[in-house]
Amino acid sequence: MSAPALVISDLHLDREPGPLLEATLAFLQGPARSASALYILGDLFEYWVGDDAGFTAAEQLANALKSLNIPVAFIHGNRDFLLGPDYAKRAGMQLAPEPLHAALPCGPAVLLHGDSLCTDDTEHMAFRQQVRSGEWQRGFLSHPLEERIRQAEAMRAASRESGRIKTDAIMDVNANAVADTFRDADVPLMIHGHTHRPAIHDLTVDGQPRQRCVLPAWDEHPGYLEVAATGPILRELDGSPYPAYLLHA
Ligand code: MN
Repeated sequence: MSAPALVISDLHLDREPGPLLEATLAFLQGPARSASALYILGDLFEYWVGDDAGFTAAEQLANALKSLNIPVAFIHGNRDFLLGPDYAKRAGMQLAPEPLHAALPCGPAVLLHGDSLCTDDTEHMAFRQQVRSGEWQRGFLSHPLEERIRQAEAMRAASRESGRIKTDAIMDVNANAVADTFRDADVPLMIHGHTHRPAIHDLTVDGQPRQRCVLPAWDEHPGYLEVAATGPILRELDGSPYPAYLLHA
């Protein structure tokens, strides 16, 4: 029986080392050591301005990831969508397409960051389409580093402000988008982050039982999804089950 695969997202690491980076390094030295694979589903970093930035926390993390002896896959989030092949190589991780179809110990699954499911947030969907275009990304990356940092800080502030005035319903997943993603992938299990509403939802799509696992945000209450042959379970960093009172079931 293969070892569990581990899935994390939404660490929102800053550019300088701090308690969150320490927690991440401890996780990589701990539970990740005995996993069969690690999947990072985006927003690993609070923002990303280019692989050349050389931020201390990111480079320390790359070294730690590189020393893991298991496959590591990374899917872009809505904050670190510019993370590129140079950094991925330094970190020894694969840049994966989204959605990612993965053979997990309990069976086939579809993995994604999750913002593409939030179709009610039309403002974010328009932003997403803009910044995912090659033309926009080349334009952004052509600016000097200081200018890119200034722009990224401004985008982050604007995102915080608009998030403050949007309703919870707008910022959660859309049920039709979830059903469509299950249909397209034709798998019983979906794993994503982004909404900061950790839970394992049981649902039915087209008469088939399905599970949708939502990962926790590390800057709120860190944790990871362990996917063993018996199925998925949300855990805190010390390995105990994720507290029920923090679940959005
Ligand atoms: Mn996100």
